[in-house]
Amino acid sequence: MSSLFPALHDPSAGERPALRFGERALTYAELAAAVGALAGRIGGARTGSGVPRRVAVWATPSLETAVGVVAALTAGVPVVPLNPKSGQSELTHILSDSAPSLVLAAPGAELPSPVSELERIEVAVRGVGAFAPAEADDEDAALVVYTSGTTGPPKGAVIPRRAVTATLDALADAWQWTGDDVLVHGLPLFHVHGLVLGMLGPLRRGGSVRHLGRFGTDGVTRELTDGATMLFGVPTMYHRIAEALTDDPALAKALAGARLLVSGSAALPVHDHERIAAATGRRVIERYGMTETLMNTSVRADGEARPGTVGVPLPGVELRLTEEDGTPITAYDGETVGEIQVRGPNLFTEYLNRPDATAGAFTADGWFRTGDMAVREADGYVRIVGRKATDLIKSGGYKIGAGEIENALLEHPGVREAAVTGEPDQDLGERIVAWVVPADPADAPGAEELAEHVARRLAPHKRPRVVRHLEALPRNDMGKIMKRSLGQG
Ligand code: ATP
Ligand code: MG
Repeated sequence: MSSLFPALHDPSAGERPALRFGERALTYAELAAAVGALAGRIGGARTGSGVPRRVAVWATPSLETAVGVVAALTAGVPVVPLNPKSGQSELTHILSDSAPSLVLAAPGAELPSPVSELERIEVAVRGVGAFAPAEADDEDAALVVYTSGTTGPPKGAVIPRRAVTATLDALADAWQWTGDDVLVHGLPLFHVHGLVLGMLGPLRRGGSVRHLGRFGTDGVTRELTDGATMLFGVPTMYHRIAEALTDDPALAKALAGARLLVSGSAALPVHDHERIAAATGRRVIERYGMTETLMNTSVRADGEARPGTVGVPLPGVELRLTEEDGTPITAYDGETVGEIQVRGPNLFTEYLNRPDATAGAFTADGWFRTGDMAVREADGYVRIVGRKATDLIKSGGYKIGAGEIENALLEHPGVREAAVTGEPDQDLGERIVAWVVPADPADAPGAEELAEHVARRLAPHKRPRVVRHLEALPRNDMGKIMKRSLGQG
């Protein structure tokens, strides 16, 4: 197959900036040299049975992670990115499941057990070497990425090279993404959002990445003012931006000048979307994807960024909604809720070592069951109502999505954060519970007030019956709300 990163082999791109992490940067020529040197070492590493089967990458936000991942892909060896903040039990699970024969890490990085027990290659970002890309088939694994673990223990999704190129090229079409784009990146590098979209995406286009290390609104202002064109973020980042915009005109100006502001990994609350639009004149566009499918839908760069929607299927992606028994729903009425199923070149091949989970995830004719529930609007825009497992509440004969209630609650000035769940109820089947972080704990809005507030915006059966106050919502490292740990102390 052709190279994943044509600019690495294009001498005319050599002087272009590729990556910057803080003060440290690499041009394409420098990246190619470092990748060449490391790919040679990976390809030549003898670990009992020849070329390593998989390599782990200790995925700190650093040039070393970028060089390590690109080198392994160049050597044709699948990459298992490791979250350096994972606890020992998660690392033990991932290493025993994926059985990498090597770990790539920055010089001096302290690796905890059991990662420290692997053979280690230190990544040199100033290495010099030439290495022709290994002969790799489109269907060969590029990455084994563990899901975020929002609904259960993380599963290792085996992502083929063809899915990476298909998704990145579809996004290039949807976002008019070119080598002239400069991305502001503040996400971790061990999930598909930060790794595939945020890092491999710009490198595939021949554009550049400026990583903030730690996300902060000052860094966003600085980079967008200094020539960056795009920002990718998760909703918690856009929430921080929305809060900061109340007294930060420089941030507002920087965002107004950006070409593209993209949100994903979880639903962007409508309230934050609207506040950013009001302060900057710019609408954040949402895209919807998963570890298993990479990207499925997006608002297009030239499309309408309608709050609460994730746009339309990307080129090459087939998407349908289905009833519980699998019957496809054909209505585009904005009301009929069904499970999203997708099919296309963006799909993973399997869950590593989980043949049952893999078989259960696909229909007989190859559609992937996402577990996400949605409606489609008249023009085909997809509006996600939540996850089947945690966000769909069956109450009083209705199927109610948690998301719209959360959006309504967030419009109340006394609510800082909100999550909605269902719990068993004798009369209703399930009753709607609102978990609320009050803006001011001394003046938290009560159950009656919030029920009235919701009932004024949505149908009366969607009002919460129970309100529980919390100091913070339980979130994972992507900022996703861990609903399964709500109510467990
Ligand atoms: P696990 O599968 O381990 O429970 P996870 O599903 O959170 O964790 P990921 O693959 O990182 O792991 O996340 C994919 C999920 O994130 C999607 O299935 C969907 O529920 C959610 N998601 C992604 N983008 C959006 C979006 N724009 N709007 C709403 N939800 C989104
Ligand atoms: Mg999932």
